[in-house]
Amino acid sequence: MIELFNAREVDEMRPAGRFVASVLTALREAAGVGVNLLELDALAARMIADRGATSCYIDYHPSFGAMPFGFSLCTSVNDAVLHGLPHDYALLDGDLLSVDFACSVDGWVADSAVSLVVGAADPADLALITTTELALEAGIAAAVVGNKLGDIGAAIGDVARAAGLPINLQFGGHGVGRTMHGDPHVPNDGRAGRGLPLRAGLVIAIEPWFMHGTDAIWTDPDGWTLRSADGSRGAHSEHTIAITENGPLVLTAR
Ligand code: MG
Repeated sequence: MIELFNAREVDEMRPAGRFVASVLTALREAAGVGVNLLELDALAARMIADRGATSCYIDYHPSFGAMPFGFSLCTSVNDAVLHGLPHDYALLDGDLLSVDFACSVDGWVADSAVSLVVGAADPADLALITTTELALEAGIAAAVVGNKLGDIGAAIGDVARAAGLPINLQFGGHGVGRTMHGDPHVPNDGRAGRGLPLRAGLVIAIEPWFMHGTDAIWTDPDGWTLRSADGSRGAHSEHTIAITENGPLVLTAR
């Protein structure tokens, strides 16, 4: 079911968006060579507790996860691209890290992700991250009243294609509200002018993620982490946005 939220409800979502943005900013600052993924998870957990927020991840157990997730944060490193289960792993020079974080504040969820390189970056990795960020911007720009859901996907897909990157359609964006994953599914490619008409009050996470060499993934034996089929690195950028009469409102803007 697709839910539309009124202006007061969208306003009530702002604190959740601001908080999720602040956690990602803190994680960006904390991430570095030698920093353990479990330290980053602990930082997110501490910030959740201090804020009186509720993690969307700790007990999360959808059909595609082998067991309840159990952590506050997804940390995907190098060939891991989505749903990375935090492991006892200290980041190495040049690692590409994606962090995905969602929680609820006062009953409203916000969901956002960012990718970064710790230490000396391979320019190809920075270009991959930039492509996901540009695709996110393009997707957000298309999230306006009068457009269709396919316009968002088409805008994202065009950026990927221009960069020569294949697109996985299995996992994409989603409706956000009182829970983390609602309708509609927001694929990272689509046909312009097709699909659900975009209306004011639709709140969605838009989340382009691409891998250097493939659109295929496999699930790590940990039951959660999704890795590229060919071992190439992946990157991921995500914001939660509300479609309003005045254009897209980026609730998780940093
Ligand atoms: Mg997310």
